[in-house]
Order: sequence, then C-alpha cells, then structure tokens
Amino acid sequence: MLFKGKDAADGIVSKLLEEDLTGLTLAVFHPLNDGAAESYLKTKEKWLKKINAKIEVVPVDEKMTHDAFFKRLEQLNKDDSITGIMVELPLPIKIPEHELLTGINPLKDVDAITYFNQGKIFTSKNEDLIPCTSAASIKLLEHYRIDFAGKNVLVIGRSYIVGLPLFKLFLNRNATPTVAHRGTSNLKDLIHNADIVAVCAGTRGIVKSSEIKDGASVVDVGIHVTEEGKVVGDMIIDQENEESRINYSPVPGGVGTVTNAMMLHNLVQCRKLQKNQA
Ligand code: NAD
Repeated sequence: MLFKGKDAADGIVSKLLEEDLTGLTLAVFHPLNDGAAESYLKTKEKWLKKINAKIEVVPVDEKMTHDAFFKRLEQLNKDDSITGIMVELPLPIKIPEHELLTGINPLKDVDAITYFNQGKIFTSKNEDLIPCTSAASIKLLEHYRIDFAGKNVLVIGRSYIVGLPLFKLFLNRNATPTVAHRGTSNLKDLIHNADIVAVCAGTRGIVKSSEIKDGASVVDVGIHVTEEGKVVGDMIIDQENEESRINYSPVPGGVGTVTNAMMLHNLVQCRKLQKNQA
C-alpha cells in the first residue's frame, strides 16, 4: 500500500478549521538568495492560507549581525501578535546553536527545536509540541492504522529535529525502536528485521525497497532533487509493484505533505500553550 500524505494532511487541517483560528501569525527567519529556502517559504505561505494565518518574514542575509538577529528574535518573542516563530536553516550567518535553541520562546517554538521542548519530549510522554516532521511521520502511520506496540522499528538518522524525536514517539507507543546512524555496522540486518522503517538519513539509496521484509512499512522522510529536477526520497524502489508487497510513503506526496499540516497544527498548539489551553 502507498502511504499517501494528502488524506492525513486534509484530516489535520479540517480538524483545525473547527477551532477559533483568528489572529494567528507565524514569524519566519528567512535566508535570502537561497533557492531551497525560497521554495520552503512559498510552501509555508500556501499552507498558512488554508487556516487564514498570516506570515511575518524576517529576511536574513550575510550582513545581518548576531545582535540584530537576536534583537529581532527578542521582539518577536515578546510581541503578542506573533503566535509562532520558525527559523529556516541553514542561515547565511553564524549563530551559535545553543543560543538559537535557548533564544526562541518555547511557547512560540513551532518546530519544537528549543532545549525546553526537546527536554519535555525526552523527559515525559508529553506530546504538546513535537518537531513537525517527526510528528508527521507518526500521524501518517496512524492514519493508515499501523500498529506500533511490540513492533521492531528502525529509525535511520539521529538528528535532533527528525530522527531522535521520532525514536521517542515510537517508544511512547510501546514499539521497540532502534536508531541507526553513520556508525552503525549492521544496517542491512536491521532493515531486514524491521516491521517499520523510518528513513530520515538524507542519503539517497540508503534503503532499497527489496531489502524491506514482506508486509513491513516504510516512512521515507528524505528529500532529494535529482539532476533532472525530480523530487525523490531516501529509499530507492528497485522492484516492480512494491506497493502490493510492502507499505511505503511516496516522495513527493508522503511525509512532506503531512509535515506542512503539522506546522499549522503546531502554530495553533503554540497559541493554546500561550493561553494555557493545551
Ligand atoms: P541530518 O543530516 O541532520 O541527519 C541525518 C542523520 O542520518 C544523521 O543522524 C546521520 O547519522 C544519519 N545518516 C546519514 N547517512 C547515513 C548512513 N549512510 N548510514 C546511517 N546513518 C546515516 O538531516 P535531517 O535534518 O534529519 O534530515 C534528514 C532528511 O530529511 C533530509 O533528506 C531532509 O531533506 C529531509 N527532511 C524532510 C522533511 C519533510 O518534511 N519530509 C523535513 C525535514 C527534513
């Protein structure tokens, strides 16, 4: 089966549309002269319109000073008309990571990157704010009613923004997750044994569909643009009719679509947290 993101994303947006959505604004620190950031911004604008939320773009070029960056961030942190804040990475200026991860108001931290929100994820089962991509991967599997309890799950990638939170979400659902990374020596064995594989390595071809066991499920988080301009994931489909043997999310049209819906969900969630209504 193909895990298509559209239905899951539409479900998330329809649920949000039942709520009071007045006065939502997302502030985005946006790198200038960066093609990828440009397309992320357009995508954000398109999705924010679905819930009538506004966007406040803070352009960042290589001339922006450290102090100017944090002065603007502090203004946005305190501004009651700003509901959420996102920083499109990588920035064209050097910002020490710990300053960014402690600098964003945790109640406006739409992508849950701050130490506060990451700490909350790992020290409790609280899922008030989860990084959008990790949350989207779980939502997509839940939409297709995939069971987690007792399952062998393999998460390939240990970034703080995707792989690690996803590991914790599987753990919260009583799966037995393993995290693979660049230092993992028996990756192929782990892939063969997994009931669910979440591929978030950013390495094209790290998994081939023929390596997945019959009936297992794959969420493919990777995004790559080929020389021909085609968008593809981390997994290479190397046999025909794989969707009748295994379950997997296509790229594009899988996790990425749900990630955009989760951004809207998290923006609304930020406002609830600010009003103590989460
Ligand atoms: P990252 O580079 O921060 O992390 C990659 C992780 O994968 C690292 O932990 C690394 O150890 C592991 N890894 C890489 N190559 C490996 C290998 N050969 N063997 C084992 N482990 C390996 O990347 P990220 O920010 O977590 O993003 C991962 C991918 O997800 C990228 O392709 C990115 O474009 C994509 N992404 C997609 C969405 C979405 O909405 N679908 C959102 C964010 C990121």
